[in-house]
Amino acid sequence: MLSCSDLTGAACSAAGEVDGELEWLVAATADRDWCRSCGVQAHAHERRETLVRDVDALGRRVRLRWRKRRWCCREASCPVATWTETHAAIAGRC
Ligand SMILES: [Zn+2]
Repeated sequence: MLSCSDLTGAACSAAGEVDGELEWLVAATADRDWCRSCGVQAHAHERRETLVRDVDALGRRVRLRWRKRRWCCREASCPVATWTETHAAIAGRC
């Protein structure tokens, strides 16, 4: 079961209720990231909103409106290029 306090490194706020589900707004607070492949500091690209549904939290169904940040690696020879944020507490649910 998930609660807002499990979402470490992210700002989480209850936004209301939609169709009987609670809705939370989630956005990572980190303003920098590093490439997993070459270690170069990443360049923030854009934020994309992802809806994660059927999250079991506090005995209720919750949908997360997760503003995922997209990062890009500036190293031309790096095979990674771009990636999106993940969160251990939400991973595998989308
Ligand atoms: Zn890289």
